[in-house]
Amino acid sequence: MSITDQFLVTGRTAIVTGASSGLGVTFAHVLAEAGANVVLAARRIDRLEQVATDLRANGANVLVQECDVSDSASVAAMVGASWDRFGRVDILVNNAGVAADAGVFPERIADDVWLKTVGVNLNGLFWCCREVAQRQLADGKGGSIINVASIMGLSASQNLASAYQASKGAVVNLTRNLGVSWADRGVRVNCLAPGWFPSEMTDPFFAVPEFNDRFKNSAPMARFGHPDELGGALLFLASDASSFVTGQTIVVDGGVSAAGGTASLYPPELYAAQAQVMGELGTPIRAKA
Ligand code: NAP
Repeated sequence: MSITDQFLVTGRTAIVTGASSGLGVTFAHVLAEAGANVVLAARRIDRLEQVATDLRANGANVLVQECDVSDSASVAAMVGASWDRFGRVDILVNNAGVAADAGVFPERIADDVWLKTVGVNLNGLFWCCREVAQRQLADGKGGSIINVASIMGLSASQNLASAYQASKGAVVNLTRNLGVSWADRGVRVNCLAPGWFPSEMTDPFFAVPEFNDRFKNSAPMARFGHPDELGGALLFLASDASSFVTGQTIVVDGGVSAAGGTASLYPPELYAAQAQVMGELGTPIRAKA
C-alpha cells in the first residue's frame, strides 16, 4: 500500500458524535471525503439533517442518528442502528462535548452543572467507546477510536471551567487505558487535543475583542486554528497510517500548549531592562499588536 493510500478510509464506516455543529461537522466532511460512510450522531436532528444533505450532495453514504451520549441506552441504540445499516463500524470519533460550567469558582459549582459536564464529556464518551469496542472486539476486525480531548485536559487554566478541564484530563488517561487494554486485539484508541478553534462552544469567547487581542498577543502563531487544520491529524488517527499508534494524544493547537501557558509577551519594562544588558537580543520577537 502506498503511503498516500494508507490515509484512505474508503468503504469503512465512521461514527461522529456531536456532528450537528462545530468541529464535528468538519470531522464528518473529512472522513466522507476520504471515502468513509458516515453516521452523524447528536441531539439536534434538524442540524444533523442539514449536514447529511451537504455530505450526500458530494456522494457520501450517510446515516443520521439522534443520540444523547450521556444516556447509555441511547448510545446502544445509535451504535446498533449504525451496525445494522453498514454492517459494522470501523471508526468512532468521540467529539460530542459541553462546557456547561462557565463559572470560575470551583468551590461554588452546583452538583447538576458538574454532573452534566462529566456526564457528556467523560461518561458519554466512555459509553460510546464501550459499545463500539465490544462489537469490534467480537467480530475481530479491529477499529480506530478517536477521543476529542482538549489542551485544557493537558494542563490547568485558571479562571476557566473546572469540570470541563477535569473531564478532558480524564479522557486523555482513559484513552491510554483503553489503548493498552485493546492493543492486542486490534482496536486502537487515541486522542485529538485541539487548542482554540471557532465553534458554538467558543463563539462567546471570540465575541469579546479583548480576548481576541490577548490571545493573538500570546499565542505562538498569533492566531486561532481553522477547523480544517484538524483534518490531517484526524485522518492520520482514523486510518492505517497510524496502525502502530495507540493510547496517544496528538495536540493541534498552534503551539499554545508548548508555550506552557505563559504569555510570550511580558511588560515593555522587562524588555527594556533586558535590552540594557543584551542590546537588540533583549527585545521581543513579536511587537505587541
Ligand atoms: P460545539 O459546536 O458546541 O459542538 C458540540 C457538539 O456536541 C454538538 O454537535 C452537540 O450536539 C454535541 N453534544 C453536546 N451534548 C451532547 C449530548 N448529550 N449528546 C450528543 N451530542 C451532544 O463545540 P465544538 O467546539 O465543536 O466542540 C466539539 C468537541 O471539541 C468538544 O468535545 C469540545 O470539548 C472539543 N474542543 C473544542 C475546542 C474548540 O476550540 N472549539 C477546543 C478543544 C476541544 P447537540 O447539541 O445537537 O446534541
